[in-house]
Amino acid sequence: MAITKKELWQAVLAQAQLSISQANFATWFKSTEIVSQEGNWVTVSVPNSFAKEWLENKYGKTILKILHSLDEGIKEVKYIVGKTELKTFRKTPAVSLQEIGQLEFQEFKIDKETNLNPRYAFENFIVGPFNELPQAAAWAISKNPGFVYNPLFIYGGVGLGKTHLLEAIGNEVIKNFSQKKVKYTPSEKFTAGVVTSIRNHEIESFKSKYRAIDVLILDDVQFLAGKEKTQEEFFHTFNFLYEKNKQIVLSSDRPPKAIPALAERLRSRFEGGMIADIGYPDYETRIAILKVKSQERKIEFPEEVLNYIASNIQRNIRELEGALNRLTAYQKLNNQPPTLEVAKSLLKNLFLSPAKVVTPKKIIQAVAEFYDLREKDLSSSSRRKEIVNPRQIAMYLLREELKTSYPFIGRKFGGKDHTTAIHSCEKVLKELEINENLNDEINLIKQRIYNT
Ligand code: ADP
Ligand code: MG
Repeated sequence: MAITKKELWQAVLAQAQLSISQANFATWFKSTEIVSQEGNWVTVSVPNSFAKEWLENKYGKTILKILHSLDEGIKEVKYIVGKTELKTFRKTPAVSLQEIGQLEFQEFKIDKETNLNPRYAFENFIVGPFNELPQAAAWAISKNPGFVYNPLFIYGGVGLGKTHLLEAIGNEVIKNFSQKKVKYTPSEKFTAGVVTSIRNHEIESFKSKYRAIDVLILDDVQFLAGKEKTQEEFFHTFNFLYEKNKQIVLSSDRPPKAIPALAERLRSRFEGGMIADIGYPDYETRIAILKVKSQERKIEFPEEVLNYIASNIQRNIRELEGALNRLTAYQKLNNQPPTLEVAKSLLKNLFLSPAKVVTPKKIIQAVAEFYDLREKDLSSSSRRKEIVNPRQIAMYLLREELKTSYPFIGRKFGGKDHTTAIHSCEKVLKELEINENLNDEINLIKQRIYNT
């Protein structure tokens, strides 16, 4: 007995799911179905033109291969945009896409108990090569909190999805294990909590509140830098939870090593589990993000407009959203999507803001490029002047621009002693007082650091 269209497509979905990440699967395969099978042809209905394009171009081969393996007669697949409405395209667990539409531009209701925002889910988190590892780790944790990677430490630059991913873990855990206590806390809030509870002699109740948690999510731990009392409190909470196999998830704008003024024992705890970084999204993923987000806003922007945005904003997903919001406002006022020309003028000043994400690597790269050296020359032990000077400048910039510790700087340059780092920084500072050329040189290097 031949299987029905529905069964056939179910089988395809089941197999496709194995080779495609969960978030991408949810994004592109929701609300698809086989509408007809005639001769060698199968026609698949998809909810909109974005999904059509992605299924055709990106997953077309996989889909055809699976279909062919199930039914040798099938030689070709056609995709049509069906009657299924946009709002049923994807479904968020915490909140439906329909609600997202209604709530656009409004904040979602943040849960008082967990402090989680239901807007952040795995289903609306786009996965690409730049964030695949942290996403996979986050997903694994939400299925089995406390037992896979503990702690999970996610780091990356501003606006690249750390908070989104952290909160998605929390929301997913609640969905899977309704009895688990989850808490999302920005580090500044944790610090404020410690300070207030000490002042009000409530530190014991503060402690017990945090120790009752099953999944503790602490965002932006770089803000614990220099806060000794808070670090100490967190260290004990961490140990308490960790020993009970409770899950701890942390984020930061840099790896634990690069957080200045972080107690060594806390640093080594942070490094004790899984560390995963979020890089910069590639062009293809930036386009995908823009498409999904325009869908959420129920607007179909011209292709060239999306391409224009994706070419100009490369390092910040929040800025991609910001650009879309401006264009969405235009669309609402004028009842038509902006043309490329309009988009250009609306977004002009947005693109002029300098890139804000600076990392040690970027500084070292910029210095090496500027002096036409290889990066590894800078961390070598060569004492040749044409290497020593740039090395000292790179160390100085790490100190000035990132406020990194001297031991960290020493380690970054091939495991040198922190006294070498101190000496280098002092030497550059002194030289700057008498040598104007050096000042110009350093400014040029800074331009490279901030504008690439
Ligand atoms: P960070 O905490 O790293 O500064 P956020 O998590 O706040 O960044 O992300 C900034 C914005 O970009 C948020 O609105 C978030 O939903 C969105 N965003 C980030 N990464 C993704 C992604 N991979 N897919 C979809 N949206 C994303
Ligand atoms: Mg954040």
